[in-house]
Amino acid sequence: MWICNGCRMLTTLQVAEPNIDDEGIYFICPVCHRRNPLVALPREDPDDPLDLEQVRE
Ligand SMILES: [Zn+2]
Repeated sequence: MWICNGCRMLTTLQVAEPNIDDEGIYFICPVCHRRNPLVALPREDPDDPLDLEQVRE
């Protein structure tokens, strides 16, 4: 569960799909369309699924 840094709306991966561009990983809030940065946690095994964590602003 993530919280939008703009409107504080709770959202999930199913609703706000993460994207990646030159500036990094992020999701767009479905309510206020704010860009919310994410970071990928280090993985022990490169085959493991990516674990994303929200960056609090
Ligand atoms: Zn928002």
